[in-house]
Amino acid sequence: MKNNGTAPIRFFNGNHIPVELHKVRIVQKLHLKPIDERLAAIDEGGYNTFLLNTKDIFLDMLTDSGTNAMSDNQVSSMLHADDAYSGSQSYYRMEAALKEVFGMEYILPVHQGRAAENVISKVFIKEGDIIPMNYHFTTTKAHMEINGGKVLEIYRDEAIKIKSNHPFKGNIDIDKLNDVISGYGADKVAFIRLEASTNLIGGQPFSMANLRDVRKIADRHGLMVVLDASLIGENAWFIKQREEEFKNTHIKDILLEMCDLSDLVYFSSRKVTSTRGGGICTNNKDIYMKLRDLIPLYEGFLTYGGMSVREIEAMAVGLYETTDDTIISQSPAFIEYAVGELEKEGIPVVTPAGALGCHVDAMGFLPHVRQEEYPAGALASALFIVSGCRGMERGTISSERDETGKDILADMELLRLAFPRRVFTLSQTMFLLDRIKWLYANRDLVGGLKFVEEPPVLRFFMGRLAPVSDWPVKLAEKFRADFGDSL
Ligand SMILES: *Cc1c(COP(=O)(O)O)cnc(C)c1O
Repeated sequence: MKNNGTAPIRFFNGNHIPVELHKVRIVQKLHLKPIDERLAAIDEGGYNTFLLNTKDIFLDMLTDSGTNAMSDNQVSSMLHADDAYSGSQSYYRMEAALKEVFGMEYILPVHQGRAAENVISKVFIKEGDIIPMNYHFTTTKAHMEINGGKVLEIYRDEAIKIKSNHPFKGNIDIDKLNDVISGYGADKVAFIRLEASTNLIGGQPFSMANLRDVRKIADRHGLMVVLDASLIGENAWFIKQREEEFKNTHIKDILLEMCDLSDLVYFSSRKVTSTRGGGICTNNKDIYMKLRDLIPLYEGFLTYGGMSVREIEAMAVGLYETTDDTIISQSPAFIEYAVGELEKEGIPVVTPAGALGCHVDAMGFLPHVRQEEYPAGALASALFIVSGCRGMERGTISSERDETGKDILADMELLRLAFPRRVFTLSQTMFLLDRIKWLYANRDLVGGLKFVEEPPVLRFFMGRLAPVSDWPVKLAEKFRADFGDSL
């Protein structure tokens, strides 16, 4: 399936490559260090890529959170920020942007996405409630559980199939949603949550048809639909590409319809607009009033919500840019290219290509590493050693242990290589792909990991691991044998 990321550009020789529709005006020097230093860095970082230091990293593909490139208009907007504790003009410009882009009347600013999850969970989740959703996100689930809620993921089987050509793997299974509501009773359902470009299953979108169906069910039972809009721009882009009805619809109108079908929309501005921050929006005054009083308590006054006024200015501009096809298609175009190139070599990757990043299937890549020894974490470490490129483990390490202390094995073991918007060039992408191909040819050398230090919640952030054997050393030896002194 083609996203046609950078359409309408076509190539004479038929080989479709993504084209950067921007020029580079401010640059940051990168360091590609020798393999011995990379090996030492990952060892020091406890084989957890979160604990690496960017001085040791070449391409930082950990996340798209707060790492998208800002536009010239965003940076320049920061200069006219209005410093004020309350009533700042910067805030009103952001409010106007949210009203226009999301079509929402009531806005609550927060310092980042998880802060929205904190207040929403506190207000709307009671002990014993369930929250049906297409798929969880790490911080979402943690906040819901702390407040006594239970997350129910009701996706179609297709969602967690690595290889698929289903255009909307992020859809909620409507039959299962009906079953869950009648099984538990609507009064036990805190709300229904849909996540745009479902993060943990490979940035996979839901369709507008699915959202409309969810809306109908919610109306039937008097339930609230909550949209996690952290990756809404890309989801809208996929709706335009993959849902016949919308092929000639402007992204702006797709965004408006997505929000209109939701009662509450929250987002991490680190993803949507590449500035720190976030927001909660609704057209329902009751919902707004229930949440409002918690904002000054946890975030800050209602006209800044923990953000700096400069960030608020850049966020307002970034929101308008989310409606521009040539901007939001950039990351999907590069991901589609990377996924296509890896597939050609028979390297297992999540298909169809989604938003956010290229997701390598670590269980397919390293079938000899048992899931209890964290294949996705091992693959992330191995790729860093051989390339200096940093990805993120999205598998069992990002999950938790059950009451008996056993790992809850994740549905998928993914190495996520994020493509923050407009950050990396095509040649950098080709370097990454070259190193992945080398690693695949030498995959037998990669072994597993074990925890040596494990925090009780969200262990993937700070946890430290060690290799189960001296495989990292052997891998580096083979690299030197093949590449000599080359970086
Ligand atoms: C990143 C993210 C969050 C949390 O946002 P932060 O700004 O990192 O706190 C919530 N939901 C989804 C889907 C995300 O991708």
